[in-house]
Amino acid sequence: MDHWSESEGKRVHDPIFQPRISHNCRQPVEEFCRERSTDAAVTRSELCTWVPGPIIVGAGPSGLAVAACLKEKGVDSLILERSNCIASLWQLKTYDRLSLHLPRQFCELPLMPFPADYPIYPSKEKFVAYLEKYAARFGICPRYNHAVVRAEYDEKLLLWRVRSQLTGRMEEEVEYLSRWLVVATGENAEVVQPEIDGLKEFKGTVVHTSAYKTGSAFAGKRVLVVGCGNSGMEVCLDLCDHNAQPHIVVRDTVHILPREMLGQSTFGLSMWLLKWFPVHVVDRILLLVARTMLGDTARLGLKRPTVGPLELKSLSGKTPVLDVGTFAKIRSGDIKVLPGIKKISGRQVEFLDTRSEDFDAIVLATGYKSNVPFWLKDRELFSDKDGLPRKAFPNGWKGERGLYSVGLTRRGLMGTSVDARRIAHDIEQQLSAEGKL
Ligand SMILES: Cc1cc2nc3c(=O)[nH]c(=O)nc-3n(C[C@H](O)[C@H](O)[C@H](O)COP(=O)(O)OP(=O)(O)OC[C@H]3O[C@@H](n4cnc5c(N)ncnc54)[C@H](O)[C@@H]3O)c2cc1C
Repeated sequence: MDHWSESEGKRVHDPIFQPRISHNCRQPVEEFCRERSTDAAVTRSELCTWVPGPIIVGAGPSGLAVAACLKEKGVDSLILERSNCIASLWQLKTYDRLSLHLPRQFCELPLMPFPADYPIYPSKEKFVAYLEKYAARFGICPRYNHAVVRAEYDEKLLLWRVRSQLTGRMEEEVEYLSRWLVVATGENAEVVQPEIDGLKEFKGTVVHTSAYKTGSAFAGKRVLVVGCGNSGMEVCLDLCDHNAQPHIVVRDTVHILPREMLGQSTFGLSMWLLKWFPVHVVDRILLLVARTMLGDTARLGLKRPTVGPLELKSLSGKTPVLDVGTFAKIRSGDIKVLPGIKKISGRQVEFLDTRSEDFDAIVLATGYKSNVPFWLKDRELFSDKDGLPRKAFPNGWKGERGLYSVGLTRRGLMGTSVDARRIAHDIEQQLSAEGKL
């Protein structure tokens, strides 16, 4: 083994050598590393890897956006990604018929618009193709199959220690050190499995929407979809299109809005109205138009919350359903609405209103959660409860000691763009103040 890397690696863990790599004295190490490096952004030692630029955890749209904004400012970064591709949520965990829920102008990443010939709601294939071009354009090459299992700030080294496990090789861990840590692991990092009495013993198929691709496997089957968010609603439509018999569980209230209103996207219209009116007025307008277009949704089992759709989103993060055709199928009776589940025995599902019905399959459209509390040993920026920043948008992007958060704002890709630009600007400012750019 290279003599330097062994001794330097030990020093990194050894407080005695700490001055060697403290902020003021890091430069000699940096130069030394650069000479031996085969990779522009990263230098290796046997015990750990010191990264001169920021470490970004997650190669979804948010991680890519930060890396691109940094690159534009001349700062290289290292992305650690647990799966084997960029945008793994989109490539590996979404159903085939998925298109962006929001119009493309609200989903662009910084510095590169969508191709002009893209439709208003690009398909997931088109979105992924855009992201791949984006990564190529900014020379972003994430380090794949690196699941970050622990990250903590080392007060002695004044660096973040980020420990990753190589996928499928649990015993192999690599530690990375950097001054900056950017959390880009997304709001959808882990699936939420509901606690339902008897679910584990259900005799049919149970699948979470993250593993659902198409309704073709369910033709002729009675399928119970649990959860009535955008994914649950669209999966029901897909099941209908594949001649299955979907039933949807609507436990709580739900705001369902047409995806387009008055010749525009509902989202775009809301954004425009919000420039002129307060949220509660915009909510009233949206609900009035929705009522005219859809009628009284409560009659079909879809009761609306007392709080309006935009206000509810900002209070609880709950996104209104933007209807892409499911509601017409509910109205025609092709999709049946059922109340909350009481318990399951065998193939039989008992509902809260005492009805009981048999099903061949259950699709859990029960959503996702952040995984930050599992691996980040810092409780200041992120809440333990939901793994999202404690401060609401736009104030949750920056923590202490070089810690940042991107894309965890409950504002989709628009929130990502805002965070990414801010983070890159902040790091650039620090480097230029030190004369290091
Ligand atoms: C069905 C669906 C449709 C959507 N449609 C839209 C839309 O139209 N518009 C919109 O703005 N938003 C939409 N969203 C929200 C969407 O999730 C985000 O906008 C976007 O994917 C967020 O990107 P992200 O990079 O923050 O998170 P993600 O896309 O989830 O990427 C996070 C990455 O981090 C990786 N990761 C997680 N944990 C670790 C770890 N410990 N170590 C290493 N890597 C890790 C993951 O593998 C993943 O690749 C949709 C979401 C879903 C589920």
